[in-house]
Amino acid sequence: MHREDRTFGEHAEVFVGYDCRDLDDEIGFRFEAGHFQIDPDEIFGRFHEIYAIESGMVAEQKESNGDISGTGTVLASYGRGVLVQADGKTLHCALSGRKQRIVCGDRITWAYPPSADGPSVQSVEPRRNLIERIDARGRAEPVAANIDRLAIVVAAEPAPDWFLVDRYWAGAALKDLDGLLIVNKLDLGTETIQPELKTYRDLQLNCVEVASQSGAGIADLKLTLAGGVTLLVGQSGVGKSSLVNALAPEAAAQTAELTRDVEGRHTTTTARWYPLGAASAIIDAPGVRDFAPPASLVRAAERGFIEIHQLSVNCRFNDCRHMEEPGCAVRTAVVAQQIATRRYESYRRLFRLYEKLGS
Ligand code: GDP
Ligand code: ZN
Repeated sequence: MHREDRTFGEHAEVFVGYDCRDLDDEIGFRFEAGHFQIDPDEIFGRFHEIYAIESGMVAEQKESNGDISGTGTVLASYGRGVLVQADGKTLHCALSGRKQRIVCGDRITWAYPPSADGPSVQSVEPRRNLIERIDARGRAEPVAANIDRLAIVVAAEPAPDWFLVDRYWAGAALKDLDGLLIVNKLDLGTETIQPELKTYRDLQLNCVEVASQSGAGIADLKLTLAGGVTLLVGQSGVGKSSLVNALAPEAAAQTAELTRDVEGRHTTTTARWYPLGAASAIIDAPGVRDFAPPASLVRAAERGFIEIHQLSVNCRFNDCRHMEEPGCAVRTAVVAQQIATRRYESYRRLFRLYEKLGS
């Protein structure tokens, strides 16, 4: 495992999947209290030529001074602008200032004064939560806001990185998100991963098996995802895009069209929102490997592992870290095979990382 540490209050990065890592194998943490600013992403600059607010396109509200304004949900963010869904219609909005940082899932108010070139974002509603990742230059980058549920996607192929799954699930617990494991590519067989699935099922993590290509299990998955906003994460190649297409084909096609640039190429954004019926949505967030931990790191790792958290009340010491302490109920349970050794190893890796961040 390779580590690159920075000073307290900045970030630490840990690379997982040492043998076959790719760029988005980078995981990172930062303190939420820290401040940072991201430069607009140049790649998406040209998007701002496409502001389109056609008459009737948006359920607009005309104010006495002639301004058109409204509220909406951010479908995707391009650095200098955002794609907004407002009453079932979409529009491109400019950001009002360089410092305005808006992400997928944000609820915003927008306005289009008669004198302006196009609509722009006026304000952002307070967020229930914010998911961040670390970008290629090592900076914390907000990805999505106002998430209810984290769906971790795995498949028999590519072979799952279970440590990563544990990290995602721990991240969900630390953000108070519901967790869900989606096992895709059911058609390839799931025999090889059933033992691990049993571990998660025994821990009450809902595991749903589907095949996005044939559509098997997709209707049930839709019901599971009903009511709330679900963030899809997982290793590349597990079929997240295919799942989005299977779950929300029209929205997927529409978003593909809306995020095509003037030359017809598809631009990649950090995260995209796909409506899934009236009250639900899925957000596909490629490259998200981790979440910022809570400001207080005390026992943060433990809270991410429910079986360890439950047993910790039996440890001799109140502040037991379940590493080398005598009278540790957690380690006793590992030896007695009541806690899966692999899960305990994941806990230790996460604990060491948090310890590093806090030192
Ligand atoms: P992403 O990187 O997670 O977005 O994955 P993609 O959606 O691009 O899919 C990766 C590969 O898995 C593609 O070659 C898909 O055709 C394939 N794939 C997706 N869903 C299924 C499935 O249900 N069964 C099988 N056998 N392959 C699938
Ligand atoms: Zn202990």
